[in-house]
Amino acid sequence: MPRPHRNRIVVNQPEVIRFKPAGVPAAKLEEIVLGMDELEAIRLADFEGMYHEEAAEHMNVSRPTFGRIVAEARRKVATMIVEGKSLRIEGGPVTLAKLRAFACRGCGYAWQEPHGTGRPERCPACSHEDIHRTDALRGRGSGGCGHRHKRGRKGRP
Ligand SMILES: [Zn+2]
Repeated sequence: MPRPHRNRIVVNQPEVIRFKPAGVPAAKLEEIVLGMDELEAIRLADFEGMYHEEAAEHMNVSRPTFGRIVAEARRKVATMIVEGKSLRIEGGPVTLAKLRAFACRGCGYAWQEPHGTGRPERCPACSHEDIHRTDALRGRGSGGCGHRHKRGRKGRP
């Protein structure tokens, strides 16, 4: 198999990296290794329900490459379920996505989104539409007015 030229972008490290069928001794289990790129392909296509074209953009791969990654990933997950194998998520030619920070002027909620996903339209916490980009997720003082104070204003008379 040829080496991929560039890393595939993934948004998060998985929280759970091992899955094991219940009631089967570990010594009797065969393990399948799912790459983090394969997990991300399943997450985008099957969990988020994205079209391959859009998902390919998120991972910075071509659409045919995405199709191959997700097909292989599904085959591994299917094998795990059908044949009762354990699964480990590990490795893959991946780079973590760079994140953008946003904050809500309504409730003060702050969160991050990966690049290339478009600007969020509303606050995920309170659905307020008055959200803004911040440079970093920084602590907010208590009892503030919720506005960001501009520093270094130019054009002052
Ligand atoms: Zn909010």
